[in-house]
Amino acid sequence: MTRREFLREVAMGSLATCLAASTGGLACRSLFHQPPPNIIIIYTDDQGYADAGCYGAEGFETPNLDKMAANGVRFTSFYSPYASCSPSRAGLLTGCYPPRVGINRVLFPGDKIGLNPAETTIAEMLKPLNYATACVGKWHLGDHPEFLPTRQGFDEYFGLPYSNDMWPVGFDGQPATNWKAKYPPLPLIEGEEPVAYIRTLADQDKLTTLYTERAVKFIRAHRDQPFFLYLAHSMPHVPLGVSEKFRGKSRQGKYGDVIMEIDWSVGEIIKTLRELGLERKTLVVFTSDNGPWLNFGNHAGSAGPLREGKGTTWEGGQREICLMQWPGKIPPGLVCREMASGIDLLPTIAELTGAELPRVKIDGRSIVPLLLGKPGAKSPHEALFYHYENDGQLQCVRSGRWKLHFPHYFRQYEGFEPGKDGYPGPTGRGHTGWALYDLEQDIGERHNVIELYPDVAEHLRRLGEEHMAELRANARPPGRI
Ligand code: MG
Repeated sequence: MTRREFLREVAMGSLATCLAASTGGLACRSLFHQPPPNIIIIYTDDQGYADAGCYGAEGFETPNLDKMAANGVRFTSFYSPYASCSPSRAGLLTGCYPPRVGINRVLFPGDKIGLNPAETTIAEMLKPLNYATACVGKWHLGDHPEFLPTRQGFDEYFGLPYSNDMWPVGFDGQPATNWKAKYPPLPLIEGEEPVAYIRTLADQDKLTTLYTERAVKFIRAHRDQPFFLYLAHSMPHVPLGVSEKFRGKSRQGKYGDVIMEIDWSVGEIIKTLRELGLERKTLVVFTSDNGPWLNFGNHAGSAGPLREGKGTTWEGGQREICLMQWPGKIPPGLVCREMASGIDLLPTIAELTGAELPRVKIDGRSIVPLLLGKPGAKSPHEALFYHYENDGQLQCVRSGRWKLHFPHYFRQYEGFEPGKDGYPGPTGRGHTGWALYDLEQDIGERHNVIELYPDVAEHLRRLGEEHMAELRANARPPGRI
């Protein structure tokens, strides 16, 4: 057989498989030969593991998220790449553990570092395939022009360059009198230029709807071309903002109202896809950057049965809501209990679109078999690693049902009076020694069984040390001004 005949055979074979898929519901195996799907990643900020109806939320409803779960896959062991904003986003967009790309802590306005422009983001990976790309919402990977989304593969950018509480305003909406007083006004950026400033709590109320309108406009404008939309909501990060149409609508106060508006936003996106006949051509992913900021009391979400929250490597810090839908490809109502992470999205999208992977080492692995519900599909990771929020040092290793904590200090929310009406309550300084938890029996990490399973602990310790040795040897620097 000549090469030409071979290629023709391959093309015919994939065509036959795809025809079967369109007529009989059989999963198409040759995703590469399809027109590549549109990709939408909706990334919320500080939403808890239990903050959606389909994950057990109480006090508010999320009909659109629940519909996503019914129409696609709901993950129960999906992790954000890190327990705080900037590193988590660096991991999501590069497919790497954040310390590999030098983003080990939250960035501040005017910070001298940012995601290195030399790194390849999902947007840059898709550009050679003629994708239209947009980042709408919170960026937080460097606010100097050389670090903005427009320099990382996004054709369009509209949103806040960092967190919505990095402004010279107190939690009561009055001018800040503490260290926040020195923050510059919070800009809303279009492309690379500020087009407005978020100065009041009333301005914060507009963000979710503003982002949603922009996202819908982008989808409509690119209906005839593959597109990648990264919609990173500023909410439900404090200070909470919610538009008139959802204020007072939940039974759980302002936090519930905010989640209901995000749920509405998801509904608007999916409704638009349906109207344009794009629903079956689009993978939609919904997840959060880290767990709930629990010391904000009734302005924070809930991690449900998980221990602690944002900033910690307890499960409440990094195990997240994660829903994905792609009708016709992802079977409806699938529940995936295998370990997966935000760092897996880049290689997964590469496989689904046929895009070329970055030429540098990445940590994520394709989870396509998990998405498609292949019988017996397993996590591609022997282990996942959790790093400390301020310096990227290793704190935990999870492998299958087991999770090992290396000795470490952590922000402790338990046992401290939470805040009320948005004012932060205190956190404590917790400490754990070596501890092994069986997450299948003990999702709340309460019963240290290290004495019973010393061999398991030793195996995880070794995996962790090998991981860190390799990471230290091959870490890449952040971008610097
Ligand atoms: Mg966050």
